[in-house]
Amino acid sequence: MLYLGAYFYAMFFYGYYLANGGVLEGDIILAIAQTNIREALTYLETAFSGWQITLLAALSLPVLFWGWFSFRAFHRLHSLEMPSEKAAVIERALAGIFIVFFMFVQAQGMLAQSSKGYGCQAKQVLAFSVYMLRSYGNFEKNRAEIISSIRFDETAAEAPEKGVYALIIGESANRDHWSLYGYQYDTTPLMNRRIARQDDGYRFIYFRNAYSSFTHTVESVTNALTNVNQYNGEDLSRAVSLIDIANKAGFDTYWISNQSGDSMIVTPLTAISMSAGSIKFVSESRNGGKIFDLDILDNLPQRLNPDRNSLIVIHLMGSHTKYRDRYPQEFSKFSGAEDIINEYDNSIGYTDYVIDRLFRHLSENTNLMFIGYVSDHGADPSQMGNDHNTTHFVFDMVRVPFVIGFSEKYLKARGDLVNTLSARTHECFTNDLIFDLMLGITGLSSANYYRKSYDLSSESYSVNCGNALTLLGAKPVSEDPGLTGNTE
Ligand SMILES: [Zn+2]
Repeated sequence: MLYLGAYFYAMFFYGYYLANGGVLEGDIILAIAQTNIREALTYLETAFSGWQITLLAALSLPVLFWGWFSFRAFHRLHSLEMPSEKAAVIERALAGIFIVFFMFVQAQGMLAQSSKGYGCQAKQVLAFSVYMLRSYGNFEKNRAEIISSIRFDETAAEAPEKGVYALIIGESANRDHWSLYGYQYDTTPLMNRRIARQDDGYRFIYFRNAYSSFTHTVESVTNALTNVNQYNGEDLSRAVSLIDIANKAGFDTYWISNQSGDSMIVTPLTAISMSAGSIKFVSESRNGGKIFDLDILDNLPQRLNPDRNSLIVIHLMGSHTKYRDRYPQEFSKFSGAEDIINEYDNSIGYTDYVIDRLFRHLSENTNLMFIGYVSDHGADPSQMGNDHNTTHFVFDMVRVPFVIGFSEKYLKARGDLVNTLSARTHECFTNDLIFDLMLGITGLSSANYYRKSYDLSSESYSVNCGNALTLLGAKPVSEDPGLTGNTE
């Protein structure tokens, strides 16, 4: 079924690129591999008009036939009783055919446009895709060995009393659309108030120059939650995750996601989420098929063990396309000429509300020590359908909001760390460094995978606006015309 979905999606892309003359790149192949049917359909609705879909349908009939044929072949192979190793080989072969098919599409696209100056990147794209898919496989394969290699230095400083550490990962939020960051419309009134007043016993800090390491979810979140970052050259296939380290240190770990848990290829993100002690993917059937992030509230753990630390990772749907499906009607605050921008702003407004509710719930019902929110990547809502597509890169796609809050108890125990962070609000930070920062904050900096030079809360933090990178290391953040640097 998944493969059939893949073929469907493939065929539409085929038509799209023939019709639009765009060039397919490796990260798009991966994005396709990581998506699921529902997301694919949403994408189509967003990106195409009616006549385009008709044209694509006509173009794609032969491809559909090919897809059906392959699916039948796959199905027949599957029904034969064969060892799982063999089945895995065949699955990989089919994934390979899938990629080769895309290469063919790209070659066609490039032949058509060679006069427009596109170089032949078919080989690079193939190499990149194969490399990434192989790393994904190896990440899963090496995990047991990697987990057993986690060690803690006994002499490291003790964390404060047991408590709850919550990390909220946003979706497609561009900080330029947050009034907290100076946006012209009041999209984030609740966070603005919290930052301005600091009157609820928690110290909130927001970072002006935070960027994502990439423009797509899986790569960004994988880098955020593992020791792989753009600076250390670590290989994903030997990566260790924050959740693995927290598990090993005796934390209760929770993964609560409003994003779908199913993708066509098992990505490291799937593996990371599955390693949490408790996993919840919020039901997709509620609200007439629409998924609202506040549903997460009902899925938060009911009882937390006060004798243990808890790490709760929450993955929001945030401002994923279509924006207008991300918030209930009563949050339709902005409307007018530029509908798509208003819808995006409404989704940001709703995210502000969701963060506020999650914070209030956790601070009132648990011994909440820390809460953080960072988006997986940004978005350029004016590029509908390509709002975070690397091929259409603008810095809007990587400028992310990043806010953290500490309880009074935490402040008492680790005031130095909080003060260091307070002094760094204008420093450049990329969200692939969340891993080290979270180890620092949760008192797990004695883990052998922790590096203080990547920890924003450490005196030794060595990333700055001069050397910070994005697009998986391909682009210096200093090229961002919107960068405010260390002065404001
Ligand atoms: Zn995303």
